Amino acid sequence: MAENQEPRIGVFICHCGTNIAGSLDVNAVMEYARSLPNVVVADEYQYMCSTPGQNKIIDAEKDYDLTGVVVAACSPRLHEPTFRTATAEGGLNKFRFEMANIRDQNSWVHMHDWEGATEKAKDQVRIAVAKARLLEDLQPKSVPVEHAAMVVGAGVGGMQAALDLANAGIKTYLVEKDPTIGGRMSQLDKTFPTLDCSQCILTPKMVDAGRHPNIILETYTEVENVEGYIGNFDITLRKKARGTRDGAEMVAAGLEGSGCNGCGDCASVCPVIKPNPFEMGMAPRKAIYIYHPQVMPLQYTIDFDACVKCGLCKDICGTEKNAIDLEMTDSLEKVKVGCVILATGYDLIPIEDKTEWGYRRYENVITGLEFERLICASGPTGGHLIRPSDGETPMKVGFVLCAGSRDNTGGVGKPYCSRFCCMYSLKHAHQIMEKIPGAVPYLFYMDIRSFGKMYEEFYYRIQNEGAKFIRGRVAAIEEDPITKNLYVQTEDTLLGRPVNVECNLVVLAAAIQPKPDAERIRQMFGVSKSQDGWYLEAHPKLNPCGTTTAGIFLAGVCQGPKDIPDTVAQAEGAASAASIPIHQGEVQLEPYFAQCVEDLCAGCGMCVPQCPYGALSLIQKDDRQVMTVTEAKCKGCGTCGGFCPGGAIRMQHFTSPQICAQIDSFLLNPLGGEE
Ligand SMILES: Cc1cc2nc3c(=O)[nH]c(=O)nc-3n(C[C@H](O)[C@H](O)[C@H](O)COP(=O)(O)OP(=O)(O)OC[C@H]3O[C@@H](n4cnc5c(N)ncnc54)[C@H](O)[C@@H]3O)c2cc1C
Ligand code: SF4
Ligand code: SF4
Repeated sequence: MAENQEPRIGVFICHCGTNIAGSLDVNAVMEYARSLPNVVVADEYQYMCSTPGQNKIIDAEKDYDLTGVVVAACSPRLHEPTFRTATAEGGLNKFRFEMANIRDQNSWVHMHDWEGATEKAKDQVRIAVAKARLLEDLQPKSVPVEHAAMVVGAGVGGMQAALDLANAGIKTYLVEKDPTIGGRMSQLDKTFPTLDCSQCILTPKMVDAGRHPNIILETYTEVENVEGYIGNFDITLRKKARGTRDGAEMVAAGLEGSGCNGCGDCASVCPVIKPNPFEMGMAPRKAIYIYHPQVMPLQYTIDFDACVKCGLCKDICGTEKNAIDLEMTDSLEKVKVGCVILATGYDLIPIEDKTEWGYRRYENVITGLEFERLICASGPTGGHLIRPSDGETPMKVGFVLCAGSRDNTGGVGKPYCSRFCCMYSLKHAHQIMEKIPGAVPYLFYMDIRSFGKMYEEFYYRIQNEGAKFIRGRVAAIEEDPITKNLYVQTEDTLLGRPVNVECNLVVLAAAIQPKPDAERIRQMFGVSKSQDGWYLEAHPKLNPCGTTTAGIFLAGVCQGPKDIPDTVAQAEGAASAASIPIHQGEVQLEPYFAQCVEDLCAGCGMCVPQCPYGALSLIQKDDRQVMTVTEAKCKGCGTCGGFCPGGAIRMQHFTSPQICAQIDSFLLNPLGGEE
């Protein structure tokens, strides 16, 4: 566009089928657009996003020598990239495009107000044109991308993502805060609906992740600090003091000895006994321990909070292995990666806080995870389902579904569906009927949600096997203090009468919630959260693995409740999305950067701490200080631009004249502001 050339704007109004055209007068809006200053062409079309719709933009740019394009249609989140591409194909800089959202912000909310919606659409178009008159050519900035990735959390989701990245040739740090990878899935006995043994399908993945040449396992490690931006994240890891070293660590530390080989001699002499959290506290472990035989890596860990430093373990380990270091302290490690996938999983809610069900008050009320360990052949009872109070085999087992899920009463309950409890309770019902001849499961449910592939069929199967289903929310559980049997009280809403079922054991399908440190991780990586605390995806339908922070992706339950198949599918999606910029080697950033107008900058530095992304700093220029912007860190939020007392900060694509023009035009001054 030649300097001083009068702006020439093209306006295109979309019908979006009847989404827009069914609620407002598209032709009237088009006619109005034609009357606006600098509008040289206005057109309408059924679907502007279609190829013929986009061709209208491309052709008009050439036919009318346009300097700016306005499309009045749906939301920029949905189709801004589409129309920007068309704008560029027509020969204009793609940032000379402006969108008016006359669907989501107009026809959808004023569906029954034809006149009002039409007038509002005219306002929206006028405002967009006012800005389009002042749009400038902008150039995206390219930044190089480190050929490495990090996955935080090594449950089935994190492992899958790491394996996919590694198989795509990308060096991947798999960071796990526990001493072993595997996550919750390694605690499960069988998995619905196929009933395959959980460890049998998980262990090969653990071994693959442990042995893959492109995966660097960082177990017993937490993220300490994150700096940087897509392509260049500088991450500090805290490697917690494990108290032992493996062979490689021995070599790296220049120590004599072969290191820990997982023989377990140390644990056999350790005098300290603690509950094993992997077994949900139902089995003991020593102060030096592994969680279970299939751990990866097979290396012992010292719980320094419990250790009495008697040195017995060190003595028996001997000088040949020399693996134990009772004075070991945490160490920090810095790594640089291009992209990060968060896969930090979930916890059960503290179900004891829902006191009406008596968890921790009554010995024979347990959670679903405790059931998994009790029924598992490698669990604390060798797979014999016994009730905790007396070790007897329970013949009547109650399953309380939605224990804290879909619970809008506030407090510890959660309004959302935890999505796998119905299915695992059906699985548990099957397992007791299979293992204990004559045993009867009672499922107390509100709805059975068996939404997945072959899940409904699994539900029928369990019904046919003889499980009893009682539809109603359990109001209370009371214990007979002599027999320790439990009375489960509810209203059978199908029969319309109260029921009180005597059970020998009750299993609570407790709701799930984000991990306790999910908030810390979220803030470090600059990821948003949804109302219920799970990490927020960039778009629930169109970008379910991405986040609003470029280069950070999500996999598994940390983004919201989901079962193993959905976790693995999302992990594969996240790995694929993360590998794209890494393989491209560089990314283009939207050029909505803050710019310092140095002549106006007083160098006071007041803006620097205001930036939530650490994008600003002061530099020495000639004999004075001025502010400078690290463009790759700037998210264009505008905080600094609004703050600078001297008006020295200019926000590209949202300049003061552009915004003033929009405000003026809203106040019915169609000419808008001037530069
Ligand atoms: C009782 C029960 C039975 C179930 N049965 C089935 C079933 O039969 N079939 C099925 O499909 N699903 C089942 N599920 C669901 C299944 O557990 C989840 O779908 C699956 O575990 C989700 O995997 P994930 O990787 O997202 O999370 P997780 O398994 O929770 O893994 C997350 C990992 O991240 C680590 N981590 C957390 N925070 C950090 C941090 N800050 N830094 C580093 N690491 C961190 C954790 O230690 C953990 O290893 C069941 C769930 C329960 C409760
Ligand atoms: S940009 Fe504004 S707030 Fe920042 S140093 Fe310069 S004058 Fe101060
Ligand atoms: S626009 Fe926002 S992100 Fe960019 S420098 Fe200013 S405050 Fe920081």
